[in-house]
Amino acid sequence: MRSPQCLCRFCDNDLMTRRRWIADTWDEATASLTGGQASHLIRVLRAQPGMEFDIVAGDRVWHAVIAGITGDAVRFNLVAEVQSDPALPITVLLSIFKFDRMEWALEKVTELGVSRIVPIIARRSEKHLAQAASNRTERWRKIAREAAKQSRRSDIPVIEDPLPLKTAARREGEAVKLLLAEQERATTLRAALEESLKAANDEYPEIRLATGPEGGWTAEEEALFDDEGWKPVSLGPRILRAETAAVTATAVTASLLE
Ligand code: SAM
Repeated sequence: MRSPQCLCRFCDNDLMTRRRWIADTWDEATASLTGGQASHLIRVLRAQPGMEFDIVAGDRVWHAVIAGITGDAVRFNLVAEVQSDPALPITVLLSIFKFDRMEWALEKVTELGVSRIVPIIARRSEKHLAQAASNRTERWRKIAREAAKQSRRSDIPVIEDPLPLKTAARREGEAVKLLLAEQERATTLRAALEESLKAANDEYPEIRLATGPEGGWTAEEEALFDDEGWKPVSLGPRILRAETAAVTATAVTASLLE
């Protein structure tokens, strides 16, 4: 994987030491942090004009210098763009299951570089969790934002509003669609991906991975996925917990794309 490099003439390319923030607002030449990020920077890190950081503004990363601090906002001048790796073309359809473990999975797949996470309400997602999911989405976006920042991503994955499984499985668009299914024996995730990537001739297609809830998929759900062109794939003979399956599937996919 390419290591990040700053293209500007002001620094010596040692970007791993510069702390990274995700801008709340920005234009062509400046960016600002507000709210929690700004107060952390001002009060804990004792921000001063002239201090240097990396700023993610939209899908670009900048070497930036603090230009001013007013109240609870920090304004930066964007000095020079920093090369960054784009997100991987991976979408994870993550069935809703116990929130603490689901949130762990959401954080880890963000660190691994996915572009999009779609929380899905599966037949065996617990009722009270499915009902509470829409109120949880903002928290999930915050978790993804923090994980993106911590892992020095140049973007934040999109966390969609929770969708019924049927709607998510039927979504249009060109993609390799792989259903993680513990009872599958013939095809491993790795083999299915290698075949699809070979067929795609290095033009990386979007890869969609669907992982089930704690109780797994129902037979009707598997039939629906099948009708919509999803291929069942295995992560091996052991039954993994839902969060382990989501993270492992993403790691295997990422390792073949990078
Ligand atoms: N139905 C299972 C049971 O209760 O015995 C467990 C389902 S498992 C905890 C949750 C999800 O993880 C599955 O629906 C599947 O998507 C994924 N998963 C777990 N182990 C897997 C494996 N070995 N291969 C592929 N997917 C797996």
